[in-house]
Formats: sequence, structure tokens, C-alpha cells
Amino acid sequence: MSAIKENFLTLSQKIERLSNPQRPCQLIAVSKTYPSEALMEAYEAGARHFGENKVQEMCSKQAQMPADVAWHLIGHLQTNKVKYIAPFVHTIHSVDSWKLLQEIDKQAAKNQRIIRCLLQIYIAQEETKFGLSQEEALAILQNPALAQLANIQIVGLMGMATNTSNETQIRAEFQTLKQFFDRLGAMQFPKQVTLTEISMGMSSDYALAIGEGSTIVRVGSAIFGQRS
Ligand SMILES: *Cc1c(COP(=O)(O)O)cnc(C)c1O
Repeated sequence: MSAIKENFLTLSQKIERLSNPQRPCQLIAVSKTYPSEALMEAYEAGARHFGENKVQEMCSKQAQMPADVAWHLIGHLQTNKVKYIAPFVHTIHSVDSWKLLQEIDKQAAKNQRIIRCLLQIYIAQEETKFGLSQEEALAILQNPALAQLANIQIVGLMGMATNTSNETQIRAEFQTLKQFFDRLGAMQFPKQVTLTEISMGMSSDYALAIGEGSTIVRVGSAIFGQRS
């Protein structure tokens, strides 16, 4: 068996063991930078959810891969590029502005679809990560105009921990996201908001993330190998 297939199967089993049996954590195979042949090997092992961080790369792989793949956009998304992915994208994990959300709604409507969105929340102690503060996310969720966006569904939150070996810090950052998620869960929002997902955890920290309540992990190098 190929290394990619074996990695995917082993990882799926580990995630299942770490998960709450009532609510198994979902694995997204983050395939950015890897060629379609590598994605196909994961597909043959059972992978159906793939994550990409660049619009152009996702579109070209979407054209090459089987039609039952669910595509997750996990990287920063520019407003002017939403139109390219709107016909097929399954979930956008990286919504970080009201303007972007409006554009996703507009393009989803053109395609007669409802696009699932996650608000990306800034939890790391690093300058480089995109995302919203908790106040900014609340402002989006409480914007009276949200009730008019008929073609988006905000299904949860996404976050990235600091790239550090300090497990205490990583855990604390994941806890921050979970606590914010729970706080929002006690509030009332329009029907476009159904907060069920917490997308957190990557190759180096997915086990910690599941322990802190992640429902979706985004794992790349642990499946496909180190990116060059
Ligand atoms: C690349 C990437 C991942 C996966 O990272 P690995 O360390 O390869 O598992 C997860 N989330 C986002 C947003 C990414 O850009």
C-alpha cells in the first residue's frame, strides 16, 4: 500500500479513537501544493473532504478529481475570487469580513446554492495569522442585514493555534475558541446561523484540538508528507 493511503487510514483510525463516539471528528485532507495523483491516492483510501488554501489551485484540482469530492477553502479568500469557487465549494473556513460574507452570498445566489461558512477567529499569539477578533465576529453575527443573506449558512468557527511546541499555549488557544463557541451557542441569531462546527487542529496539534472540542481537523503533511 502507498504511504499516502496508509497515512490516511492510520490517521482516520486515530481520530476516531480520540473522538466522542456520539460525534466523530471530521478529517479534511489538506492537499495544498500536492499534485492530483497524491490526492487520488488519498481518495482511494476513502478521503472525500479535501482542503486547499488557494483558489486557482483548488479549481484546477476540482476539474481533475471525481465529482463526489467536497472542497474546503481554508486559506485567505479575496472578494474578487469568490466567483471562481462558488459553483462547487462545500465549505469556506476562512470568512474574515462582512464584505466577504456578502460576496459569498451574492455568488452563491447566482449559482442557486447555499454555501457553508465558518468565521475564522484570531486565537494565535502571532502577527501573521488572518482572522477576526471575537468582537468583530460578534458584529458580523449581530449585523441586522445578516437575515437578508439567503444563500449562506454560518455553521461554525475556525482557528489556528500558534506554531509552537508549547502544548500548554496551544491548548489554551483552542480553549479560547471553544469558550467563544459556547458563548455564541447561548445567544440568538437569525436562521442563517447554526453553530455546530469548530474547525481546529492540524498535523502537529490535531490530538490536542480534538481533546478541546474540535469537530473538524485539517491535516496535510501527516497524510501527504512534508511540503517542499
Ligand atoms: C496548511 C494548512 C493546514 C494543514 O497543515 P499541516 O501542518 O500540513 O497539517 C491546516 N489549516 C490551514 C489553514 C492550512 O493552511
